[in-house]
Amino acid sequence: MTNVNKAKLMDGRALAKRVLASAAERVARISASKGVTPALATVLVGDDRASATYVRMKRKRCEDVGMKSLALEMPHGTTTEQLVTEIRKLADDDAVHGILVQHPVPKPIDKRVAFEAIPVEKDIDGVTSATLGRVILGLPAFIPCTPAGIMQLLREYHVELDGAHAVVIGRSPILGRPMASLLINAHATVTLCHSRTRSLPSIVRNADVLIAAVGHPRFVQGDWVKVGAVVVDAGYNEGNIGDVDFEAAIEPASLITPVPGGVGPMTIATLIDQTVNAAAQQLGVEL
Ligand code: NAP
Repeated sequence: MTNVNKAKLMDGRALAKRVLASAAERVARISASKGVTPALATVLVGDDRASATYVRMKRKRCEDVGMKSLALEMPHGTTTEQLVTEIRKLADDDAVHGILVQHPVPKPIDKRVAFEAIPVEKDIDGVTSATLGRVILGLPAFIPCTPAGIMQLLREYHVELDGAHAVVIGRSPILGRPMASLLINAHATVTLCHSRTRSLPSIVRNADVLIAAVGHPRFVQGDWVKVGAVVVDAGYNEGNIGDVDFEAAIEPASLITPVPGGVGPMTIATLIDQTVNAAAQQLGVEL
């Protein structure tokens, strides 16, 4: 990042630090009042190196805030039934307050069937259909962590969503779809784009708020960005490269998330925050 106008950056690292500090304080309160340490169970299937790294990072953050983390590792070749059996054991374990199944899981596994085995009260990563339904309806839920973290960043930087035109690129169940719902619930007018969308650049040029969740490095070009737009880059591609051409987009943008240091830290912080809240709910602690 050369000659960056720092006033335009949405600093996910700084906000995540505050979210984690608050989580640590609540973990201590739960432990003091109930004698129970909130615990996150992570489930990793197969040998994908990036997934293993993400799980390690999430477990490290758990420990940083004083939570327990339990790691379940299952080999490549695990069947859907075997995975569901293990998830059900974690679901029945009172010492586990949140369950995270790291995705992607290896292809032969039916990930939807696996996700649905997570009880909604322990679905701290927001992957079940019940959670997604609650998110769409604006009901209390553990929201998928990346869109939840993005909403917190937008609030932190006082981005006006009411009446704004928000464009989301990507419609995955964990990112683009819930993102669009959260923006609608915040009274934005939302256009949800995907790989079949026609004239994508012209739609993006009308965005007051742009959320890129495509999975293609530097996909969004600088000249697609309207002057004054708020640009959130959820992309995380090999080599720490986002879905937006940052160097070009920062010129027209009024605010922009860097990669790394924008959405990524907020995703993990939200996961931790929601696990603490899940523990509090399950243990009957008012926070
Ligand atoms: P995904 O499941 O692969 O979904 C990608 C979406 O982008 C799909 O809806 C796809 O459309 C759309 N798309 C693909 N090519 C397109 C094109 N040429 N034009 C318009 N839309 C296109 O990915 P995801 O899990 O949502 O993740 C998206 C990005 O966010 C990735 O870079 C991922 O690494 C990143 N991510 C970051 C975090 C974090 O913590 N920072 C967390 C999760 C994901 P179709 O539906 O039509 O195929």
